[in-house]
Amino acid sequence: MDLSKLSAILQTEPKFRFKQAYQALYVDLITDWAQASVLPLALRERLNQECPLSIAAEVNLDTDRTNSEKALITFEDQVSVETVLMRHRDGRHTVCLSSQAGCPLGCTFCATGAGGFFRNLEADEIVQQFFFWARRLRAEGRGEKIDNVVFMGMGEPFLNYEQFIKAVKILNDPEKFNLGSRRISVSTAGIIEGIKKLAAEKLQINLAISLHAAVDSLRQQLMPIAKKYPLDSLLKAVDAYIRKTGRRVMFEYIMIKNINDGEDDAEALIEIMKRPLCLVNLIPYNPTGKFQASSPARIDAFREKLEAGGLAVTQRFSQGQGISAACGQLAGKTRRK
Ligand code: SAH
Ligand code: SF4
Repeated sequence: MDLSKLSAILQTEPKFRFKQAYQALYVDLITDWAQASVLPLALRERLNQECPLSIAAEVNLDTDRTNSEKALITFEDQVSVETVLMRHRDGRHTVCLSSQAGCPLGCTFCATGAGGFFRNLEADEIVQQFFFWARRLRAEGRGEKIDNVVFMGMGEPFLNYEQFIKAVKILNDPEKFNLGSRRISVSTAGIIEGIKKLAAEKLQINLAISLHAAVDSLRQQLMPIAKKYPLDSLLKAVDAYIRKTGRRVMFEYIMIKNINDGEDDAEALIEIMKRPLCLVNLIPYNPTGKFQASSPARIDAFREKLEAGGLAVTQRFSQGQGISAACGQLAGKTRRK
């Protein structure tokens, strides 16, 4: 799929062609310009030549276990990324998007990090992942749509800020996907420049911070980038973000057995998380090699301690392990083929 010449081509046509082409692309979700019958035949043929719509993807189903699906999407230069569709029991759908092929940050618990870094994605390549799932739901014909988007796939969105935000704007654009910004969430390993830039945007998307440890020494062991962004400066940046936007911030905390799930860890977390509009999200660790997951009983005890300490806590239930599509498991075949 390549829409890079679309604007230039439509520019040479009467003005209303933009609206017609966008309707066909983003609302009707055509997979071939031939299906855009409102457009003149010659234009459809030209668009098929210069703006091909097909997406190269391999899908992996996990319908028995968790109703998640994973797709490996391959771009022009043969670099691939993974993206996930989560079908929730209440009928909602969440799509998890990748912002980079691989990730340069090398967090020790993350399969993407372990696989190395290939390159940043273009905004169109990020949006292509959304197109893929939107078309798939459309083809099923049950009128189901994508309700939420999370930038929690491969890569660090704030290290590819311009393209990430451009993709968000395409999703959000009323003439394009028209997905409300409150339905879009971004997760960062704590890149302070990105938090500042996001605070200055006029977009009300949700911000999540990957915390995973409440003291610098442990956080640095788990996430090497924490050496560059110590907790103190990270939390100051979050405070400034909250003052500016008035929006809540979610702190993600994966529960790793005997590493960050003890009483001391809970106490340290209470200490730093007693801030207005901050929410802790406990995530079961998906073993990717190095560590083990905390037991459900340990997670419960941890949560109770945090709540007793006055924190707002939510717990995430993991989906997609069966097809290695859970958080941090996206690594697969990023390599150039
Ligand atoms: N790079 C960004 C966004 C992608 S990772 C970030 O790190 O925030 C999305 C979430 O999955 C992050 O909170 C990340 O810490 C978490 N994650 C990574 N590996 C995981 C694993 N093995 N089990 C559970 N969560 C994991
Ligand atoms: Fe990159 Fe996020 Fe994985 Fe860390 S957890 S290596 S930042 S994708």
